[in-house]
Amino acid sequence: MPLAEKDETARIPYQLPMPPDALPEIIVPDANSEDERLWVKQAENVYFRPLCLNVSQGYWVTLLKVRKSGVLSRHRHANAVHGFVLKGRWHYLEHDWEAREGSYVYEPPGETHTLIVPDDVEEMITFFQVNGVMYYVDPYGKHLGYEDVFTKIDMCRAHYEEVGLGADYVQQFIR
Ligand code: FE
Repeated sequence: MPLAEKDETARIPYQLPMPPDALPEIIVPDANSEDERLWVKQAENVYFRPLCLNVSQGYWVTLLKVRKSGVLSRHRHANAVHGFVLKGRWHYLEHDWEAREGSYVYEPPGETHTLIVPDDVEEMITFFQVNGVMYYVDPYGKHLGYEDVFTKIDMCRAHYEEVGLGADYVQQFIR
């Protein structure tokens, strides 16, 4: 049974300081902003918006935006991924299900897949938490490249510098 608290204390904020070693919170008020400068291009018709780039635990949380007919290259996951579709539809070439607005997706460690947005979908946006590394491969598993939280940060720095927000714009998302 949940803790029942007396009415007179239920709305009193916690009165003690946060742990001195705790990191500051991140709040992105308009995460799904249409301001194009905030979205980092990662391939043709593929963009991401950083929300939390976690360098101590090695994961990244982003909104992924893929426009009409976009493809997110084939990759293997060493760690779990959690996704929630905010807009549009997409599927993996390797599975027969479709993720659509409102769908939750769990990608287990060991998965290798290729994300496709169908031609009749203008754009999809999905919230993803990706842990560890995305290991890009050819159809037979040969290694082609990788991404981790550090390559993501590098991409953000270069992009934000280029669009005039400055490389340091990414700092607010790093913990
Ligand atoms: Fe994936």
